[in-house]
Amino acid sequence: MKKLIRGLGEFKNSYFSDHQDLFIELTQGQKPRVLFITCSDSRIVPNLITQAEVGELFIIRNAGNIIPPCGAANGGEGATVEYAIHSLGIEQIVVCGHSHCGAIKGLLKLNELHEEMPLMYNWLKHTEATRRLIKENYGHLQGEELLESLWFKRLAQQGIDHADGVARRKQKALADYLDTKTAQIDQIINIQI
Ligand SMILES: [Zn+2]
Repeated sequence: MKKLIRGLGEFKNSYFSDHQDLFIELTQGQKPRVLFITCSDSRIVPNLITQAEVGELFIIRNAGNIIPPCGAANGGEGATVEYAIHSLGIEQIVVCGHSHCGAIKGLLKLNELHEEMPLMYNWLKHTEATRRLIKENYGHLQGEELLESLWFKRLAQQGIDHADGVARRKQKALADYLDTKTAQIDQIINIQI
């Protein structure tokens, strides 16, 4: 905790003071152009990997970068998407998954989580339709290969569900795959609705 407090002081004395004009401008209101949805994983830092400035990204983070289908849950994700689209006028959505994702690994042993982590179990159940689709179509894959496939398909489906079910208006959704080892974006799906 001491390190965080020291960091806050350093931020005020360096970055904040160097960018005072930007921060003053942002007090008049935010106009982010992109809704960036990604995992809570500490290795993914949206503004760092995209080199976006303060005020450019409106961000949702949770375990597994999951957006429940519209009406399936009363959580903050749907409300935040709604706010981004209707109040901020954001037209671009980026869904960023990543390699070595603990939530995705949890999907592969979902039934075990029922006892160990019931809240996580319920959360991951929001991807059940896609999980079933992956099992039916990629059941022959094993280990890491299956993980990658599961992840990728789920993310793509989520982007579509998200754009179609929650936003309900014309926009682009991108699903990016970030490999935390190489920092390469390996797969990009551009969904034009
Ligand atoms: Zn993750």
